[in-house]
Amino acid sequence: MNNAYFDFAEPKNEPVLSYAPGSHERKALQAAIAELKGQVRDIPMYIDGREVRGEVKKEIRPPHEKSHLLGHFYPSTEENVHDAIDAALSVRETWAALSWEHRAAIFMKAADLLATKYRFRMNAATMLGQSKNAYQAEIDSSCELIDFLRFNVHFLSQIYKQQPLSPSGMNNRMEYRPLEGFVLAVTPFNFTAIGGNLPTAPAMCGNVVVWKPANTQVYSASVFMEILKEAGLPDGVINLIYPSGPVLGEICYAHPYFAGVHFTGSTAVFQSMWKSIGNNISRYKSYPRIVGETGGKDFVFVHPSANVNAVVAGLARGAFEYQGQKCSAASRAYLPANLATEIKEKLVKELKTMKMGIVDDFTNFINAVIDEASFDNIKRYIDNVKDSNGAATILCGGKCDKSKGYFVEPTVIETTDPSYVTMCEEIFGPVLTICVYEADNWIQELEVLDGTSPYALTGAIFAQDRHAIDYMTKALVNSAGNFYINDKPTGAVVGQQPFGGARASGTNDKAGSILNLYRWLSARTIKETFVPVEDYRYSFHKED
Ligand code: NAD
Repeated sequence: MNNAYFDFAEPKNEPVLSYAPGSHERKALQAAIAELKGQVRDIPMYIDGREVRGEVKKEIRPPHEKSHLLGHFYPSTEENVHDAIDAALSVRETWAALSWEHRAAIFMKAADLLATKYRFRMNAATMLGQSKNAYQAEIDSSCELIDFLRFNVHFLSQIYKQQPLSPSGMNNRMEYRPLEGFVLAVTPFNFTAIGGNLPTAPAMCGNVVVWKPANTQVYSASVFMEILKEAGLPDGVINLIYPSGPVLGEICYAHPYFAGVHFTGSTAVFQSMWKSIGNNISRYKSYPRIVGETGGKDFVFVHPSANVNAVVAGLARGAFEYQGQKCSAASRAYLPANLATEIKEKLVKELKTMKMGIVDDFTNFINAVIDEASFDNIKRYIDNVKDSNGAATILCGGKCDKSKGYFVEPTVIETTDPSYVTMCEEIFGPVLTICVYEADNWIQELEVLDGTSPYALTGAIFAQDRHAIDYMTKALVNSAGNFYINDKPTGAVVGQQPFGGARASGTNDKAGSILNLYRWLSARTIKETFVPVEDYRYSFHKED
């Protein structure tokens, strides 16, 4: 019997634990790290609720401690991809038919399990597998993922409530159906929370999902899958597999029931996906939803009236937390000549205090970058400064060492050329490039900023002059999807700063907001007339 509308009230953001010395959470997290390091985890795929293992194993090692073996996973074959799609489609109707309050309860329970029983295991897995410090893991794999789950349940219940007008004589209603097929979730290495949100947001809407995380995030993704199973997610609703991108794409994009992709990752991969989907467009039962949040070249623009200490703190945290591997990380800064010397001196002094090393030592602010390919890529940008014919110099940092783990010092490059390569391209590492401009030319410099990179993800302005703040906010209207005033460009919180960028940075469907959920729904409008007309003629047909 369904005789009531079940609502889910707006939640509060999950409080961030401090992990200060002597705290309960610090001890619990250290114990969870020790426990995981004492095991070699054998991580299966999850297809139709079954644990599936293949012939070939791939090792997982902490990026900051290559000598330690954490576990292994099984790269998926073509057959595994087909099985995952078939499993998803086989439960499509029963999952869509489950009453909303029971579907919602599964994700609310998963949030509660993560907030309590699994919190430290999940954070420890993220610290070890992705080289995050305790605080960065807490805000990502616990708080943000818990918020995604709880807020999305709330947003969806808001959507379900929205109904059209019904004048007398009829009843009009809207049903918010899931898509007719399966949704593919392809997730990046850098946020465990994104890994969890991309499959669950469509699933919550009644869709069935094939989820492929980055190989470098499989370790923590599998912990989330354990939580979903314990929360009661029915078999086949979310299928977790680890194929290569091309194998996955070839099978999924050619499938008639491919209903959409929920992607976060680099711009190049997203553009190649879109092309393949376009090439297959005539095969599909319906037009696939293409949602992708991609790369950035996030800016900090400092106005001549800015508060220097606020700028220095914003750059230190905004560019270097999690080794600059946030899509929102500040990676180019424009400094006015009147403040530049003081900002540079103070920033360099601060960066020299940042300790770098393994995640087990909580005093380390900087850990390793994700893998060797990323290390080599970042190092290339740093090494190339030498060959820039004086266009760029290294202000601090620059040392890279991959003997024990993939360590790159927090590095500041200064350039006199606002279109120098590191002002334009996403590096995805702890590298900030600064460019000093004439203070009187700040308005022209905004145009330079706006035209320098194809991206428009995040950006921050620092100023105390209110007219300047107003001017910059308007002038940079298309330069960023998340725009910050007197704050760093990172650290968006679910429910507070819905996240996503435009231009080459993605479709701007704002993860963790109501806008995103609409993309996973296909509304059906139903009109019922109580007393139908029985004569096709209108009054005006009658003779005078
Ligand atoms: P990536 O593009 O290398 O990988 C993302 C995912 O795509 C992974 O699961 C990967 O295995 C998969 N993939 C790679 N090639 C594929 C192919 N040909 N077909 C299908 N899937 C394929 O990105 P990454 O290194 O994991 O993450 C870093 C990137 O993600 C950066 O560019 C960053 O800016 C971006 N990012 C953006 C946001 C955002 O919200 N805008 C958030 C986080 C990360």
